[in-house]
Amino acid sequence: MGLSTMPRMGADPYTECRLCPRECRVDRRAGRRGRCGETADLRVASIVAHFGEEPPISGTRGSGTIFLSGCSSGCVFCQNWQISIEHLGATLTPDEFEQQARELLVRHGVHNLNFVTPDHVWPQIADLCRRLRAAGVTVPFLFNSSGYHRPEMVAEYAQWMDIFLPDFKFALPELAARVMGDARYPELALESLRRMVEARGFLEPWDPSGQTPAERGVLVRHLVLPGEVENSRQVLRQLRREFGRHLPLSVMSQFRPNPRCLESGFLDRRVTAAEYAAVVAEVEHLGFENVWIQPEPLSEDFTPDFRRNRPFRANPPSIVAQSHQPPDE
Ligand code: SF4
Repeated sequence: MGLSTMPRMGADPYTECRLCPRECRVDRRAGRRGRCGETADLRVASIVAHFGEEPPISGTRGSGTIFLSGCSSGCVFCQNWQISIEHLGATLTPDEFEQQARELLVRHGVHNLNFVTPDHVWPQIADLCRRLRAAGVTVPFLFNSSGYHRPEMVAEYAQWMDIFLPDFKFALPELAARVMGDARYPELALESLRRMVEARGFLEPWDPSGQTPAERGVLVRHLVLPGEVENSRQVLRQLRREFGRHLPLSVMSQFRPNPRCLESGFLDRRVTAAEYAAVVAEVEHLGFENVWIQPEPLSEDFTPDFRRNRPFRANPPSIVAQSHQPPDE
């Protein structure tokens, strides 16, 4: 891919990678892998019309969701562990990537393109966005992320992204250190979020029915973890203090322990109804106005298995046609 495709990034960022806060400085162009586990190749696990996002994101025709292999956060509890930890996925050239994204838009008429954990492959994402905009594609582009970023990268993302959908996972540094090995997560996520809100404002239009899909802005997600209600309370208090009660927020109860959690005994169960209710009580106490809560567990049909061509049974099959393989060692 030509360097001209990387907005304001100067030299090829893959040769001494500092795309995320890990700042591994490895030469991914030479086939090395840093913490995210990916070389400079773009690898994609699924490209699908997804109906499991919040209503303004999924709308009525689905969110055009692109699940990218690898992840810079590497949380032990990752719900998409098959692609973030096991690195399932298929390598796509820039032309293949563009062709499959276009197919998603044409075949399903999705409301947006939703890039899941795009930070570690940002050069290819920016390249695709540039190509699609040049070709007249007008749907919003959506940055769906862990919240773990170098804050100075947000300006790069905002050149192409209309909607930001970041997690705010941890307010407690010690929990962040235990789960993903970086106690700086709370400060990095908060500063990145400030910059996202500054760049795009809050999610709008705000239509909980999904009839009028969102076009721009920020929606923050928080996944409640088993045994970690105090972390959730601190997350909510920080967000309320920083952004006020109108911040669009999605408080999720859908945590399921992955095989690593079950083996280690850490975060090895579902969230109880009482735990989730305690977090929702804090949401109400703080007066948040624009909130999605999940009183009922999400349908099992939205529990993905990325080894299938249809990772989510509730969605149509994935467009990525190549066999799903972990990368060669
Ligand atoms: S994107 Fe990957 S290689 Fe680059 S700094 Fe982050 S974890 Fe390291």
